[in-house]
Amino acid sequence: MITVNQATLNEGNLRVSELFGPTLQGEGPSAGQRALFVRLAGCNLDCAWCDTPWTWDWSRFDPAEESREMELSTLVDWVLGREADLIVISGGEPMIQHRRLLPLVSAIRSAGRRVEIETNATVAPHHSLVDLATFNASPKLAGSGVPASRRIRPAALRALRACGKTVFKFVVSDHADVAELVDLQHRYQLAPVWVMPQGVTEEAVVSGMRALTGPALAHGWHLTPRLHVLLWGNERGR
Ligand code: SF4
Repeated sequence: MITVNQATLNEGNLRVSELFGPTLQGEGPSAGQRALFVRLAGCNLDCAWCDTPWTWDWSRFDPAEESREMELSTLVDWVLGREADLIVISGGEPMIQHRRLLPLVSAIRSAGRRVEIETNATVAPHHSLVDLATFNASPKLAGSGVPASRRIRPAALRALRACGKTVFKFVVSDHADVAELVDLQHRYQLAPVWVMPQGVTEEAVVSGMRALTGPALAHGWHLTPRLHVLLWGNERGR
């Protein structure tokens, strides 16, 4: 587990991995929509198949090269200087900096833009953030290799479910993940549920989507591609 040391950040600043766009949101209900991405550094999990390890895995990547502390005004200028109605705040795990996110999200919303926060659903959102943003919550399943006690946080799941502004989006690797998802969906009354395959190649995404079609239809889940992978492979900044 490699997190952002909040104590070393200056007041109001955020630890950022990368900014990019306009591009296309690749996953979930907004897939295909033009979007800007604010990718924050640090994560509280360490999924085996993580497709953005440069945001948190400091055993393989240099944090001095892969992350930088940015002031709120610089981030707001970057966002508002580019055209796209949708701003996706992703990671890493952006919610480990969630209190610092409030001024940024507030400024973006004041400019009439929408904000989606992509989270691994281990941190309950601050009520002010709930007022301003929607959440693409992606609780991790056993295929991630992370122990259940770290990746399934009941209080956070219940808060995200109760706020009414969350879609639940699962990366499904195998049959065991399907079975665990069915159990989680019923135990925490998760809805709506989206599923997508694990994979960073066009072939893996297409074959994974075919394999998930049956479970999605049987359980009433929505199926999402990983559009950015189909279009650009695993290229960074897309
Ligand atoms: S929660 Fe997301 S960013 Fe963190 S390790 Fe897992 S896949 Fe990677």
